[in-house]
Amino acid sequence: MVCRKRCIVLKKEISPVVEFVAKIQNGGISALEHAHKICDEIEKKNKKFHHFNSFDRKSVIAQAGALEKEIKKGRKGKLLGVPVSVKDCICVKGVESRAGSRILSGYRPVFDATAVARAREEGAIILGKTAQDEFGFGTFSVNHMAHTIEGDKTGGVKIPLNPLDPQRSCGGSSGGAAGFSALTEYTHIAIGESTGGSIACPASFCGVASITPTYGAVSRYGLMDYANSLDKIGAIGKSVPDVALLMGVIAGKDVRDSTSADSPGFEAGSVSGMRIGVPKELMAAIGDGKLKGVALEKLRRAEELGCTLVDVSMPMNAAYGVAVYYLIAMAEASTNLAKYCGMRYGHSRKLEGGFNEYFSSVRSEAFGEEAKRRILLGTFARMSGFRDAYYLRAMKARTRLISEFMAVLGKVDVVAHPAMPVVAPRFSEIERLTPMENYAMDLCTVPANLCGLPHATINAGLMGGLPVGLMFTAGHFKDSTAVSVAAALEAVP
Ligand code: GLN
Repeated sequence: MVCRKRCIVLKKEISPVVEFVAKIQNGGISALEHAHKICDEIEKKNKKFHHFNSFDRKSVIAQAGALEKEIKKGRKGKLLGVPVSVKDCICVKGVESRAGSRILSGYRPVFDATAVARAREEGAIILGKTAQDEFGFGTFSVNHMAHTIEGDKTGGVKIPLNPLDPQRSCGGSSGGAAGFSALTEYTHIAIGESTGGSIACPASFCGVASITPTYGAVSRYGLMDYANSLDKIGAIGKSVPDVALLMGVIAGKDVRDSTSADSPGFEAGSVSGMRIGVPKELMAAIGDGKLKGVALEKLRRAEELGCTLVDVSMPMNAAYGVAVYYLIAMAEASTNLAKYCGMRYGHSRKLEGGFNEYFSSVRSEAFGEEAKRRILLGTFARMSGFRDAYYLRAMKARTRLISEFMAVLGKVDVVAHPAMPVVAPRFSEIERLTPMENYAMDLCTVPANLCGLPHATINAGLMGGLPVGLMFTAGHFKDSTAVSVAAALEAVP
């Protein structure tokens, strides 16, 4: 691809959330009034769209009321008065936190996850818990605990619907987070989580912006593990500067998570002179030419900003990413789920029989079908006799995939491609997918996640009225590079 060096100088993008915070600070907006408005909206619309699993108006208003008093006394904060929603798998003190699973019914953490605590310290108002696939197992949020079980008085939880077309999925697994980000008319940022693409996918389907940081940049303390070597807490919101603001608050080393690291920073800077790589094998694997066209048209605008587009080659990531990801993710998930057995957290039954019978009966009735499939496959992949052939081989392949990605990132600043190979599908289409077809949908998002690389997504434009997400991946701890390109292109009219 050829570069035309016709550079446009953009004015520095100011986050609308930053403007909101400034108005809260100087009394132009009342945190309490704004909280009432967003609560009215949730009460009215959640019945239809199911973006929230738990939402408690009283708690939101109490937080806003207390904050309002402190603001009058001069309290400051980067997220002062900003309503923040939290994915169900991230612990919020005192609020039922189920990771989208029936097995955690009734579990109310006695502490806040570090990401939540840090947002609160900067004046955020925690709205509630957003809907997701059970423990993050899915791409469409349809593996959400759909049925009630005996004794579960919550009435079950319904599948979140895409606000752009309620017949379609919000994406997953952070579906409620992205759906509400697109739906709300008020200032809001969502805390989400990605293991293999659960932030980029729903943001793409709902036409909003997202950041998934370098592995370790945000503490996982208080996150219910899906796969520990892959899980990352990140953000979804209306614009890149909004999500970058939240990331700057929640990132950084935490003594409670030994894998956490210092914040890499998320500030957007100049992109002039940057090289953007378009991975040809991944592009070839995306069947929909029109969708690629929408993404490429937006990407070409980067040339006007002084960037150069180049073709890059990552054949191993395109060919093996999905297989390697699912083996490792399921192996880790199957061990993580062992602790949910009806003894310590959430759902339990009358103690009867030996421990094997009791654990089996609780797990049989409370885990959904996809969780059970992953426990079986993950256990198989790491069983003695099969371990060498599956789990260990996948671990070796992962190292190769990382080397391949790093070699490409030695030549370009970011790698860019559509976040998903499709636009938000209809629920009727999702029902017809086999598990393997389902997993294949993660083709574009798994490489960056397997390699622990930071990535940001924006809406590139519409196709048949539905958004096409564009994803930018940078090197480890170069989160601000991915953010810079995403913010600059988002700002191009
Ligand atoms: N769709 C992928 C999976 O099912 C990714 C989910 C995630 O990132 N939590 O594993």
